[in-house]
Amino acid sequence: MGTQLMLAGLVQGNCGEEWNLHHPERVLAIQRRYAEAGSECILTNTFGGSRIMLNRHGNADLVTAINRAGVEIARQAFGGRDGYVIGDIGPFGGLMEPYGDFTEEQVRSAFNEQAKALVDAGADAIIIETQTSLEELRLGIEAARLADAPCVIGSLAYDVTLDGSTFRTMMGVDPERAAGFMQEHGADVAALNCGTGMDMDRALAAVRRYRNATDLPVMVQPNAGQPKLIDMKVVYDETPEQMAKGVVPLLEAGVNILGACCGSTPDHIRAFRHAMDEFLCHESQTLRR
Ligand SMILES: [Zn+2]
Repeated sequence: MGTQLMLAGLVQGNCGEEWNLHHPERVLAIQRRYAEAGSECILTNTFGGSRIMLNRHGNADLVTAINRAGVEIARQAFGGRDGYVIGDIGPFGGLMEPYGDFTEEQVRSAFNEQAKALVDAGADAIIIETQTSLEELRLGIEAARLADAPCVIGSLAYDVTLDGSTFRTMMGVDPERAAGFMQEHGADVAALNCGTGMDMDRALAAVRRYRNATDLPVMVQPNAGQPKLIDMKVVYDETPEQMAKGVVPLLEAGVNILGACCGSTPDHIRAFRHAMDEFLCHESQTLRR
């Protein structure tokens, strides 16, 4: 969503969630392209829609309005057909005590408020995404549960280590620990998204590690490769065809929900959809035989 909003004219550092109220047609146009490409799930444009994040743009009074509008736009993007609107909660954007200035209570109340606004507006699920710390993730999961979200997805952002041998979150969490933690704390789906160096192959490795640690359904959203700075613009250069090659191995490894994060476009999702449909069609034929 973030990279698509910037393509549509959002200036880096400005409040993209505010567009739900002031430029809903732009958000809708983006999301509609994903629905048309075959997405069955659309995340709301509310990544930075918590009070703590919105407050940085003077929009703390608009938490409920922005999150409600985010759900309505995503629903509209499906144009009347069935689809899942996933209410998106991103990181609150700071560190909690003792590492940073925010108290657990501030973060808890910000997540509770956002989760309630999303669920009250009709979100089918809540995703707590791009998380790096289990403490923050736990507050998000609890907020979604408290709001009676029909489905709660916990999603971590992993970075490949400098020597390339493995990956963990910025706060040092590995996939086994994250998966076990999410199951223990009431998430319905264990996920990963974004991160650094987490291409389709790394995502596959992460899925296998999740599978060894939990029996929860697994969701992945890798970035379209590594960001590169070209002419002072951030460019993600993994093509839909390149990424789509990783779809079948991920499905064979047991992925239940598959999407993509930064730099991916409707064409990436269309290529995923195509690869997935072929795989499922082939599977059902094999089963019938
Ligand atoms: Zn991302």
